[in-house]
Amino acid sequence: MKKNLGTLCVQGGWTPGNGEPRVVPIFQSTTFKYDTSEQMARLFDLEENGYFYTRLANPTNDNVASKINSLEGGVGCVLTSSGQAANFYAIFNICQSGDHFISANNIYGGTFNLFGTTMKKLGIECTFVDQDASDEEIEKAFRPNTKCVFGETISNPGCAVFDIERFAAMAHRHGVPLIVDNTFATPINCRPFEWGCDIVTHSTTKYMDGHAVQVGGAVIDSGNFDWDAHADRFPGLCTPDESYHGLTYTKSFGNKAYITKIVSQLMRDLGSIPSPMNCFLLNLGLDTLHLRMPRHCSNAETVARYLEKSPKVAWVNYPSLPSNKYYPLAQKYLKNGSCGVIAFGLKGTRDDAIRFMDSLDFIAIATHVADIRTCVLHPASHTHRQLSDEQLKEAGIAPDLIRLSVGIEDVEDILADLEQALGKM
Ligand SMILES: *Cc1c(COP(=O)(O)O)cnc(C)c1O
Repeated sequence: MKKNLGTLCVQGGWTPGNGEPRVVPIFQSTTFKYDTSEQMARLFDLEENGYFYTRLANPTNDNVASKINSLEGGVGCVLTSSGQAANFYAIFNICQSGDHFISANNIYGGTFNLFGTTMKKLGIECTFVDQDASDEEIEKAFRPNTKCVFGETISNPGCAVFDIERFAAMAHRHGVPLIVDNTFATPINCRPFEWGCDIVTHSTTKYMDGHAVQVGGAVIDSGNFDWDAHADRFPGLCTPDESYHGLTYTKSFGNKAYITKIVSQLMRDLGSIPSPMNCFLLNLGLDTLHLRMPRHCSNAETVARYLEKSPKVAWVNYPSLPSNKYYPLAQKYLKNGSCGVIAFGLKGTRDDAIRFMDSLDFIAIATHVADIRTCVLHPASHTHRQLSDEQLKEAGIAPDLIRLSVGIEDVEDILADLEQALGKM
């Protein structure tokens, strides 16, 4: 039976049999027992599905992954111990030393570091492009060794909206997949596969969890990219894997080749699995994702309108405001709302911004975003401190940018707290 998103949030993943627990149980076990050596061997050869060791698969994790997979409309999902691990795996699954990929420049600071610095040490080079540049300008970045294109549906912290359909077309013209980090929008507000994206990633630490209780990530495969049509570009998927008795992922797993390789090769060799306990907690968050997102969005819209009118505020970037540069893209990709995050700048000095944040009452200064409690952060002095002024500019972050993550409290109280803190400037 076809189910809508709200039903999938509540009922997706775990389907109990007769007399089984109503709620997905926590299988807090590293290992699983078999009666014969033959059975175990078949699992190791990937000839049969089954559990043997939690680094490779665990029933709690799988059920939660399956819920996220159904929300995004993919063919398979793997959960990771963080959003960082998810983005690393998504790229590393198809890139090796000597390869190149393209990313929007105004992405999350941690991802920017991963792509620009750490992956470079592995011999994988990333070209950052301005996502608002013309096709012609962006297509100059493609090289013969380019393996994928990456962007964020709504960028953290700048709140730029990514033109998924346009980037998918560009990536496909060059025979490579488009990977989209859908953390801020969540599948409630945008499903990138519907716009031609091939792989979706998430930091489940944010809205999916929503309560700020676990760090996690996810990679979801649409199953749509035809790896074999570009076999010379993707030898890892289209030629035999010596570490799996010469098995070829596209031959053995068809349109699940990409996601199967992440589990059976990258998870096996690099780890980064979430704990079953954390997956259980993530699942509690997912149960109400469809109720929380609209409230985040309506609160944020009210707050963004208030900030826009305040004489103390220099600028506001919230894609659902009609005055916003990204409003037309938000209307296309984020019809039901964008997210709870607003980027804005105050008139005055850097000290004024700090005084404003320090004067807030229940709105906390927190290195977090996208959970039920309203919080603020100044990226230039917090999350993005590792970046030079030059890199900050390159990453599309103004030095005066304040990131306000609007929670699901009563919006009158959020407005009152902002009002009194702005009054102290
Ligand atoms: C937070 C975040 C990440 C990193 O996720 P962690 O769970 O903190 O490792 C990646 N992408 C986006 C858009 C994020 O907001």
